[in-house]
Amino acid sequence: MIRPDGKLTHDLDPVDHGPKDACGVFGVWAPGEDVAKLTYYGLYALQHRGQESAGIATSNGKRIHVYKDMGLVSQVFDEATLSSMPGDHAIGHARYSTTGASHWANAQPTLGTTPHGTLCLAHNGNLVNSADLYDRLLAKNGGKPPTHGELAQGNTTDTALVTALLAEHDFDSLEEAALDLLPTLRGAFCLTFMDEGKLYAARDPQGVRPLVLGSLKTDNLDNGWVVASETAALDIVGAEFVREVEPGEFLTIDENGVRSQRFAKADPAGCVFEFVYLARPDTTIDGRSVYESRVEMGRQLAREHQVEADMVMATPESGVPAAIGYAEQSGIPYGNGLVKNAYVGRTFIQPSQTIRQLGIRLKLNPLKSVVEGKRLIIVDDSIVRGNTQRAVVKMLRDAGAAEVHVRISSPPVKWPCFYGIDFASRSELIANEFSVEKIAEYLGADSLGYISPEGMIAATEQPVENMCTACFTGTYPIELPSEDRRGKSLFDSEEGKGAGGPLAGKAAEVTVEREVPAKPEHAEAISIDTRTGTPLLENKVPTGLIPLVEQPTPVGGCDTTGSCEPGPDSELEALLLPEDRRPASLSIQED
Ligand code: SF4
Repeated sequence: MIRPDGKLTHDLDPVDHGPKDACGVFGVWAPGEDVAKLTYYGLYALQHRGQESAGIATSNGKRIHVYKDMGLVSQVFDEATLSSMPGDHAIGHARYSTTGASHWANAQPTLGTTPHGTLCLAHNGNLVNSADLYDRLLAKNGGKPPTHGELAQGNTTDTALVTALLAEHDFDSLEEAALDLLPTLRGAFCLTFMDEGKLYAARDPQGVRPLVLGSLKTDNLDNGWVVASETAALDIVGAEFVREVEPGEFLTIDENGVRSQRFAKADPAGCVFEFVYLARPDTTIDGRSVYESRVEMGRQLAREHQVEADMVMATPESGVPAAIGYAEQSGIPYGNGLVKNAYVGRTFIQPSQTIRQLGIRLKLNPLKSVVEGKRLIIVDDSIVRGNTQRAVVKMLRDAGAAEVHVRISSPPVKWPCFYGIDFASRSELIANEFSVEKIAEYLGADSLGYISPEGMIAATEQPVENMCTACFTGTYPIELPSEDRRGKSLFDSEEGKGAGGPLAGKAAEVTVEREVPAKPEHAEAISIDTRTGTPLLENKVPTGLIPLVEQPTPVGGCDTTGSCEPGPDSELEALLLPEDRRPASLSIQED
């Protein structure tokens, strides 16, 4: 895909995009260390959680640097950029869009000017009361829309709303403002934020998304601290896991260490899908290894859905641990029947039409000598629309497989997620419409077996009452607003949906340098210069109300709020050919 500045992104074409996971957030307090590079490597470890944009903010106490752009962490940052970002503490963000379209103006960290300094904020999760929060912001402004800050500059995210509400406070400190605002947020939120002098972190009362605290000791430093979405990011920067940030907990980190305050009673409802697919296998959540959970899910799947076969294989990479567990439990040998090219979708060269016609083979290629004549069990983590699995089954049959049995290490996905994962609308979820037998028929599989909800939860070793399973059960642990007051495109104008944004293709390079005032004052909006030296953002982008978009009328009880993006298998979905896709009109005859 060509950006407005002529550079190519990693997307294959304008309608293709990478996997849609959940954002990754990172924060580090490490005076004397290169905090920009630590954050870069932290984000690198969290890249799987969001590939749309990346950003880092650093502070040396008086000066804040922010740099962000569309693309992967390795595409946005280079040595020179990181070297120009000194500081004692930093935050970072890797984005995948949940509220607000995927464009430049919505990249994070977001910025705001508070009476006491500058606020930079990064958010993982999705709020469900954004419309109420916007009403609150309007009320604070005497009914008028924001005239400065990110919202006025075209940012349409719930993150910009939180930033604006935090910035426009009447308290003596950002800490007090946060303790006032955090209890009013509803939904999933793991925040890392900072001002010139302190690093902060907060996690929603349900703890839907993971957030962990680590300590960092180096030759130069005795008491550094790291906050990250996953323990794997602590490992990669050399930090030692201390503990989870508790649901409902707010942390303040500065030269005095870590101070913990509770803004809400913990009411845990952790996302079970983090164990199934989202988190890295080398991450630990609530004391349980994600890898071990997935292997156990595979074992349980074998107990529940045994079948005679010659080989167990995985849809790479996410199906691998469960396939290993299935093979172990069943005694059927494990083998690699598909080779994955990890770099497709990251290419800077757009494929020609001839190449595109290869479809999913661009990404996966069967090992004919391995699968030919064999009865195969292929293990995957989930089925969303079923198109990918259908293409894989066909590919294996074309390569000579005698039988193809599909096994899935999560139960049927029947409901959309409003807490930070875009699966699809209900009408696109194949398990919402059809029985397991009919789905197997659609996939062209000899048999299909899903793990039971009980088996999946047991594999996580978490108490069921502490987990969110809403996409499987439809029981949402955090109350949802009415359909007209939720959804990904709540604040996007019709023209702005999915557009390039006001400065698309120009990386934001922000330097804020000013005396941090001792007394509250009304600071003006921060100026944002782009990498290519365009005029200040405020002068370029018309300010005004970001309209609340009329939501389309729900059809047949399906979610029509914009949650129609591909889900966990979207990287493969993007490569599907038209004939691989299930037509909207398709009906599988139920018996
Ligand atoms: S609905 Fe599903 S994906 Fe969303 S938080 Fe709950 S378990 Fe996770």
